[in-house]
Amino acid sequence: MKISERPSLKHLNTFGVDARAGLRIDIESEEDILALPVFDPGKDLVLGGGSNILLVTDVPGTVFLNRIPGRQVVEESNGKTVVEVGGGENWHDLVSWSVSLGYSGIENLALIPGCVGAAPIQNIGAYGVELASVIESVTAWDWQTSQWRVFKPEECRFAYRDSLFKTAASDRYLITSLRIRLSREFTPRISYAGLEGELVKSVNRDLTPQAVFEAVVRIRQKKLPSPEKIGNAGSFFKNPVIDDARAGELQQNHAGLPGWPAGNGKTKLSAAWMIEHCGLKGHRNGPVGVSDQHALVLVNHGGGSGVQLWQLAKMVQQVVASEFDLVLEPEPRIFEFEI
Ligand code: FAD
Ligand code: NAP
Repeated sequence: MKISERPSLKHLNTFGVDARAGLRIDIESEEDILALPVFDPGKDLVLGGGSNILLVTDVPGTVFLNRIPGRQVVEESNGKTVVEVGGGENWHDLVSWSVSLGYSGIENLALIPGCVGAAPIQNIGAYGVELASVIESVTAWDWQTSQWRVFKPEECRFAYRDSLFKTAASDRYLITSLRIRLSREFTPRISYAGLEGELVKSVNRDLTPQAVFEAVVRIRQKKLPSPEKIGNAGSFFKNPVIDDARAGELQQNHAGLPGWPAGNGKTKLSAAWMIEHCGLKGHRNGPVGVSDQHALVLVNHGGGSGVQLWQLAKMVQQVVASEFDLVLEPEPRIFEFEI
């Protein structure tokens, strides 16, 4: 375990917000956890890669960084493989490793920033695949009872960009490792917009998980602003999932508003389209703005504060609400502590 006082968090959040914490503790093993101070949700926070958070204020207490390593095959039978991965491992490195060994299951989730331990928090998803489809179990430390707990997939309450860990029990569990199911048998999932087209350009022999992985990486590099070049936390708003009837009305009143069936009488609408329709794509307010590359992404052009980004997000919410009569929900966790 490593401990440092008054750390800067600027390089620990992909928005590049220049906040500070009281203390930083790097958790490097499961044994470290037994020696940690008690977690106080009103003062402390847990971080992986900091790619799905907005720090509106400093953190008065401790930032616990999950840096628990480990990647091993724990089961292999009948074409099915289960790997156990430490929560501090880099997600994209895991995907890259799995396809290099010929496994399929998570190739569509390439190039998502952040750590493995954060992946179940919002049930990461992209290009038609969600983490929930490959999870065997999630192991976590329960801050309340000071005990380990192993969650079966059905206990995680995975939903669209959501889980038990993000909403009902946020701040209760520190996710230390995952078991993920991979396969030697490859069922490509490439019907998602743009993916098949990208593959047609590059694949002239058999379609492999590696080819899908590379296609996803290429599309993402073209379409999404990289946090290394410009501060951002990916999509800042979730696509609203609303009743079919209400979605139908909105689509009738706003020709071209894209929607997709989301099951259980619900439709998922495109938040990016709504923001662009309101003329906010590329909008800039001083050092912060809406990306001109992608309307769902808020950006820090440099030197923007968490307060400025949060004000911008609220302005986008208000403008969209007055046009579409619905409130876009932020996807990253907003941390606004009482200082
Ligand atoms: P952090 O930002 O560090 O933390 C996120 C939340 O999880 C916080 O509330 C934190 O307290 C909590 N947390 C973190 N680790 C743990 C742990 N071990 N135990 C308990 N709680 C924890 N997301 C997608 O779903 N799909 C995408 O395609 C996608 N693309 C992105 C592209 C870009 C350019 C960026 C910047 C972000 C993107 N994201 C995407 C969002 C983000 O990368 C994911 O949600 C990722 O899983 C966050 O991981 P992290 O380690 O950075 O989490
Ligand atoms: P895109 O391919 O341009 O599509 C725009 C939106 O349309 C996405 O939000 C996507 O919803 C939806 N969509 C497109 N085709 C769909 C289909 N066949 N069925 C259902 N929904 C469909 O999106 P993009 O912004 O370039 O991102 C590509 C993928 O990476 C998406 O899955 C997106 O979620 C993911 N991504 C996520 C983040 C993040 O921070 N969460 C950031 C970048 C990219 P979904 O978002 O529900 O897939």
